[in-house]
Amino acid sequence: MGSQTYDFVVVGAGSNTLTAAAYLATAGNSVCVLERKDYWGGGCVTREATLPGFKHDLHATNVFLVKANPLIRCDELGLLSRFGLKYVETDDPYHGSLFDDGTGIRTYTDLERTCGEIAKINLADSKAYRIFAQRAAKYVDLLSWGMFSPPSNPATFLEILNQSDEGRYLLGFMRASAWQVISETFQDQRLQTHLYKMCGEMMVSPEKPGTAFALVLILGFSHRFTSGFVQGGSQKFSDALVACIEHHGGKVFTGQDVTCLRTANGKITAAETAGGEVFEAKQALIAGIAPWRLEKFIDGFDPGLTAAAQKALPSDFGVFLSSYALNEPVQPRYPVEYSRMQINQCCHTDVSKVRKMFAEVTAGDMPSDYFANFICASIHDPSRAPAGKATLYLYHMVPMIPRGRRSEDWSELAEPFGEWLLKGANAYIDNLEGNVLGVHHESPYEMEICSPSFRNGDVMGLGTFADQFLGGRPTSEFAQYRVPGIERLYLCGPFMHPGGGVTGGGRAVAMRVMQDLEMDLDKAFATY
Ligand SMILES: Cc1cc2nc3c(=O)[nH]c(=O)nc-3n(C[C@H](O)[C@H](O)[C@H](O)COP(=O)(O)OP(=O)(O)OC[C@H]3O[C@@H](n4cnc5c(N)ncnc54)[C@H](O)[C@@H]3O)c2cc1C
Repeated sequence: MGSQTYDFVVVGAGSNTLTAAAYLATAGNSVCVLERKDYWGGGCVTREATLPGFKHDLHATNVFLVKANPLIRCDELGLLSRFGLKYVETDDPYHGSLFDDGTGIRTYTDLERTCGEIAKINLADSKAYRIFAQRAAKYVDLLSWGMFSPPSNPATFLEILNQSDEGRYLLGFMRASAWQVISETFQDQRLQTHLYKMCGEMMVSPEKPGTAFALVLILGFSHRFTSGFVQGGSQKFSDALVACIEHHGGKVFTGQDVTCLRTANGKITAAETAGGEVFEAKQALIAGIAPWRLEKFIDGFDPGLTAAAQKALPSDFGVFLSSYALNEPVQPRYPVEYSRMQINQCCHTDVSKVRKMFAEVTAGDMPSDYFANFICASIHDPSRAPAGKATLYLYHMVPMIPRGRRSEDWSELAEPFGEWLLKGANAYIDNLEGNVLGVHHESPYEMEICSPSFRNGDVMGLGTFADQFLGGRPTSEFAQYRVPGIERLYLCGPFMHPGGGVTGGGRAVAMRVMQDLEMDLDKAFATY
């Protein structure tokens, strides 16, 4: 069995760990990345999961949060200019809600166009929306720099906010629920439903304290950054990171399942794979492994630390995702302009129904009313399907573990739920019947099989609650990416700051590591 030595060994080739590796390689270090699967990307992959020629984003499809990260915003590593990453450029409506009464709401990146759409249903709401969204965009600019650097101490952050009027205004959102703010700010039930459902994408009940902050972030991002579709599929985002790592001499090995992290004298030394290969880390090891799983990898790992990690709370619910290969693009049952919306929300006009649906899935019950989302990415990026054909990404919020069941019971629940999901879509899409060529379902159970960072199907890796934010994520013990008692071991994944999603969060990890090792940040970071 062989042994190789690098400055940095990185476990897992998801978008977060690849990002950390790309920064470290750009800074001139020797780096290797070890991925247990036979392809890289983790939750940022595109596969022909139904039929040849149909490219489905199996998990992340809206690769958009990362646009606020200097990684993309300043093209710090050259992913856009040198390593082949391209976003689909479109001014098609961003988010749209289709209602059961035949009406709809379309929102654009362009705020004025959005306000024009909202004015068609309620003039006062249109005015309130403009004020709210303008303020949110300002905050997003301010907050996004902090999101992509090592997290600040929550108490210090709150103290800073408390020192100005603007800060105190923002603080209010960190305490209020999304529903409180939505219901106090807007009158029309359709707009309330549209926004409530968007907030639910954070996988926390919009009734919980702190979720108003999600509303600020979502609206701020929506009007600040354009489409999140990567040309050719999300996989191309991961591919660009790998191209960057390899360009700088780094290596990405697939089919390498790390089963053991070796330590000596309280310091990390190497990763060992199931095949017995050893990858020694001279400087540090970065693991895409959640802290509550570390005991499986490290002999004699402190049980007190495992217990501390287990206090971190998962998201409130998960999603069930069906990927369809279609004979022709979908035709939503609404005015023709809705066919080009990027993200479609199927909604009921009565806001109490969306509140009930989220309450059900939070409580572990199956949804009784239909509130699916659908995305037909091939309309905006024809390279994802054979000529004239189409892909469909159809999903619904569900309990991660249905009440009284086990996670693995999804194996038997998946087929009937998938049928319910497709059948319900017929009320919103005209041409589904006879249009389906192939389907691939993914329940929360399969998500964890795909990547252990989706524990029980937690797409965010961990709940995005106010106290699991910044230096509180996942718990104060692990928040700075370091593992107490084990020198030079760092954690990187959706369970760490800045949280779930394709955020390029590994940038902050690389920064933390380089700061600890007193390396020159100028070699990789344009801003810090
Ligand atoms: C259905 C679904 C839809 C989503 N939609 C979106 C979206 O539209 N937009 C968005 O921004 N985000 C979305 N997300 C979330 C996003 O996919 C994740 O937050 C993101 O992929 C996390 O990246 P990561 O690199 O931290 O972890 P992962 O992507 O989970 O990658 C971890 C990698 O490490 C590997 N690994 C783990 N353990 C080992 C080991 N011991 N040895 C070797 N390799 C190992 C895994 O195989 C995996 O490849 C979605 C997630 C799901 C499940």
